[in-house]
Amino acid sequence: IDQQRIRNFCIIAHIDHGKSTLADRILQATGLVDDRLMKEQYLDRLDLERERGITIKAQSVRIPYKAKDGRDYVLNLIDTPGHVDFSYEVSRSLVACEGALLVVDASQGVEAQSLANAYLALENNLEIIPVLNKIDLPSAEPERIKAEIEEIIGLDCKDALLISAKTGQGVPEVLERIITDLPPPMGDTKAPLKALIFDSWYDTYLGVVVLFRVVDGRIKLGQDILLHSTKARFEVTKLGVFSPDPIALNELGPGEVGFLCAGIKILTDARVGDTITDPDNPTLSPAPGFKKITAMVFCGMYPVEPNEYGTLKHSLEKLQLNDAAFTFEPETSHALGFGFRCGFLGLLHMEIIQERLEREFQARLLVTAPSVIYQVRTLEGETLPVDNPSKLPPLNKIEHIAEPYVHMEVHVPNEYLGAVLALCEECRGTQKDLRFLSSTRVIVTYELPFAEIVYDFFDRLKSVTRGYASLDYEFIDFRPSELVKLDILINSETVDALSIIVHKDKAYAQGRELASRLRSVIPRQLFEVVIQAAIGQRIIAKERVAPMRKNVTAKCYGGDITRKRKLLEKQKEGKRRMKRMGNIDIPQEAFLAVLRKD
Ligand code: GDP
Ligand code: MG
Repeated sequence: IDQQRIRNFCIIAHIDHGKSTLADRILQATGLVDDRLMKEQYLDRLDLERERGITIKAQSVRIPYKAKDGRDYVLNLIDTPGHVDFSYEVSRSLVACEGALLVVDASQGVEAQSLANAYLALENNLEIIPVLNKIDLPSAEPERIKAEIEEIIGLDCKDALLISAKTGQGVPEVLERIITDLPPPMGDTKAPLKALIFDSWYDTYLGVVVLFRVVDGRIKLGQDILLHSTKARFEVTKLGVFSPDPIALNELGPGEVGFLCAGIKILTDARVGDTITDPDNPTLSPAPGFKKITAMVFCGMYPVEPNEYGTLKHSLEKLQLNDAAFTFEPETSHALGFGFRCGFLGLLHMEIIQERLEREFQARLLVTAPSVIYQVRTLEGETLPVDNPSKLPPLNKIEHIAEPYVHMEVHVPNEYLGAVLALCEECRGTQKDLRFLSSTRVIVTYELPFAEIVYDFFDRLKSVTRGYASLDYEFIDFRPSELVKLDILINSETVDALSIIVHKDKAYAQGRELASRLRSVIPRQLFEVVIQAAIGQRIIAKERVAPMRKNVTAKCYGGDITRKRKLLEKQKEGKRRMKRMGNIDIPQEAFLAVLRKD
């Protein structure tokens, strides 16, 4: 294809501003997806994404389009995920594009990720077309939002598009503007093959599928390719495009976006960001690649039944094939037995993996409270990464504990500023900047420990601002903090899976809170259960669960058999997520009690 007839673009937006809906309308307006077959959020591949209304994995689609100028074009829409946990996926999708549609909800205005994603696009030299969405809403204020975009992001909004992705109004104009305003690719057809991998996943039948963008040269079915960073060689056995279903092709040229299979067995052989080239005539300018993504949030995952360990391991391996950001390794817990320490980008990522394990693999899991990763400096001068509070070395061996810090921007209407500042201060934040976007909106910048925002920061921010604040964050570094390990003892025995690391100043309050929350989730037993919170040898809180008075099944005696069976069934279901420790049943809720702050 003539590069003049190609447009590669992505849609960037703050979550819920309408990116997926606009993608759907584009697929429909160009006739690529039949109205009858149109499912909402067509590109969101996983059921889970569709249900939760979030886009996790980037997906791209080739769209043939006949423009008003009478010519046939090829549009490549590269979908990008819309949640802070996945911002690394946004940046990798951008390298495949020349331009971006910046979708801003005309009733909400610029939010934290509108800004963060717009900056990412600008850093990648993308041309940006501002698109104001949801103009069908009575609360839409396109003129005010245009001014906001100009002021905050610095984009000219004179010709900003006004659309409703819901009704389809303005969508044909979006397509025309993609043709007129976005530059075509400018690859060198004669140069050696250079193609960038921007996504890859494992398919049970095909093995590793690689999604790439050809920068220079051509790639042909059957040819040998060289992966720049690993120097591994493969033969291209399948080549094609998604449109939206796979279409096989013999060749792809500069500017084109497609997929290939080449008998690649493991995902790490086809790293996102790597350059594909020709082994006989390699490119002299491979892309620098992406920085390795590292998991920042960890939790333990344990099978409810010990004999399901092998199945769980197998399921985790399968999930990892498609998610390079997810890590796991075996761990043992005194309380929970054999399981795995799993690493994630953030809490949402963790919830998604957990849900997929349960749904797609029917895994029955006990999940421990998430923890960030710490860097512990020992007196011997060693630095140890610690991703499990119970694995913290003894205090008398530690020089200091450093925790990950993030740089965070919160966008908030004026009237909630006080509440947001109070929340950030409470979360050990240091204010770095405070800027008024307009007379009504403010951006506050804080540096704060990631641990403080992992648990329930989003929920609390939402509740103190009635949902009007938005945020974006990125990691900066590890900083020493006064941290201590808080242990939980049940009937005088430390339960390793319940230990957490907390700041010294908050340890007492958290210990008391956690003990009392545990009291409400641990069911009564035949005997008294004593719950204690301790820092080192010091007990800082104590709660009791009184013994059971009556036998639950007693009321069934004499009752009819089906009722009895039902009750037993119900009890069995309830026990599904219990772990027997010594002689006490501890339910799943207990392990996540630390997450809930009311
Ligand atoms: P994303 O998170 O950016 O992908 O946003 P979605 O496309 O999932 O849209 C978020 C919500 O806004 C959904 O409930 C959509 O139905 C709704 N929405 C999207 N576009 C419009 C629009 O033009 N008008 C109205 N009224 N609602 C819209
Ligand atoms: Mg979406």
